[in-house]
Amino acid sequence: MHVLVTGGTGFIGSALVPRLCEDGHAVTIVSRGKHAAGAGVRYVQSLDEIADDTAIDGIINLAGASLNGKRWTDAYKQEMVSSRLETTAAVVALCRRLAQPPSVLVSASAIGYYGDRGSEPLDEDSGPGEGFSAALCRDWEAEALKAGEAGVRVCLARLGVVFDREGGAFVELSRPFRLGIANWVGSGHQYLSWVHRGDVVAAFAFLLEREDISGPINVTAPTPVTHRELCAAIRRKLTTLPGMPVPGVVMRVLLGEVADELLLAGQKVLPKRLGDAGFTFHYPEIDSALGQLLGRTREQ
Ligand code: NDP
Repeated sequence: MHVLVTGGTGFIGSALVPRLCEDGHAVTIVSRGKHAAGAGVRYVQSLDEIADDTAIDGIINLAGASLNGKRWTDAYKQEMVSSRLETTAAVVALCRRLAQPPSVLVSASAIGYYGDRGSEPLDEDSGPGEGFSAALCRDWEAEALKAGEAGVRVCLARLGVVFDREGGAFVELSRPFRLGIANWVGSGHQYLSWVHRGDVVAAFAFLLEREDISGPINVTAPTPVTHRELCAAIRRKLTTLPGMPVPGVVMRVLLGEVADELLLAGQKVLPKRLGDAGFTFHYPEIDSALGQLLGRTREQ
C-alpha cells in the first residue's frame, strides 16, 4: 500500500511510520518542516504537492497542535481547533480530487469526545460529553467522516492517553515518582484510560487492513485505571515516599482549564469494537505495561 500520514513526524507517527515500512508499505509524510527522504519514506509540506493521479491507498491523519504542555489561552485553543479541522478538511479535499480515492482514512480523535463521565463505562455507542475537548473531537470527527462521501472507509480512532517510555504523557506523569515522591491529583478516583504506544501503532496497522471496520473505534487498553490505582501500580515498581495528593484547585491555578479537561476529568473507556474485531493488546494491563515503561526492556 502507499500510505499518506499527516503529522507523521510526531510522537505517534514516529513509531507508526517504521512499522508501516516494516509491513512493506510506501509512506508519504505530510510535515510543515523540511526533511530528507529515507528508505520507503518521502515527505511533502502540503497536500497541494500531490497530483490528482497519485495512487494513495490509505491515509492516516494525526496532525494537530499538541493539547498538552501549553496553557489553553483563547488563541491557543483556536490553534488546537484549526490545526485539526483545517488539516482534516484538506485530507477530505484530497480524497475528493484524487482520480482514484484511497480505500481508507484512519483519522485520530480522542477519548476527550466523551467529556468528564466519572466511572460510567463508555464504549463506542456512548454519546458525546461536554466541554472544549468533547466539542473539538466532535467537529474533528464530523470533518473526517466527509471523506465517506468520496467512497472512503473512515475509521475514527478515539485515542486514550498514550503511554510510552520515550515521550508523551507517561514521561511527564512518572517524573515525580522517579524523584521519589508523588501522588495522585484531585480525588484520585477519576479514571484514566491509557494505552501503550506499541498497541496504538498495532491498532492503526490493524484498522488500515480490516476492510470490515469503520466509524468510531476506542483505542484504549481494556483495563482503564483510576489515578489512585495508577499510583499504587507505579509504587509496586518504584520506591517512593507517600507524597500528598495534589488538590484539584492547585492544579487549576497552575494549569488553568487544561487541568479540568485532561487531569481531573475521568473517562472509563473500553475498546469494545477492537475487542469484537479480535484485536489483541500486547499491553492489556497496567502492571505489564509499567514493567516495560519503567523497566529495562525496550521492546514494544
Ligand atoms: P504530536 O503532538 O506529536 O503532533 C503530531 C504532529 O502534528 C506534529 O509532529 C506536527 O507535524 C503536527 N502539528 C503540530 N502542530 C501543528 C499545527 N499547528 N498545524 C498543523 N500540524 C501541526 O501528536 P501525537 O503524535 O501525540 O498525536 C497524534 C494525534 O493523536 C494528535 O492529533 C493528538 O491530538 C491525538 N491524540 C494523541 C494522544 C496522545 O496521548 N499522544 C491522545 C489522544 C489523541 P509537523 O511539525 O511535521 O508538521
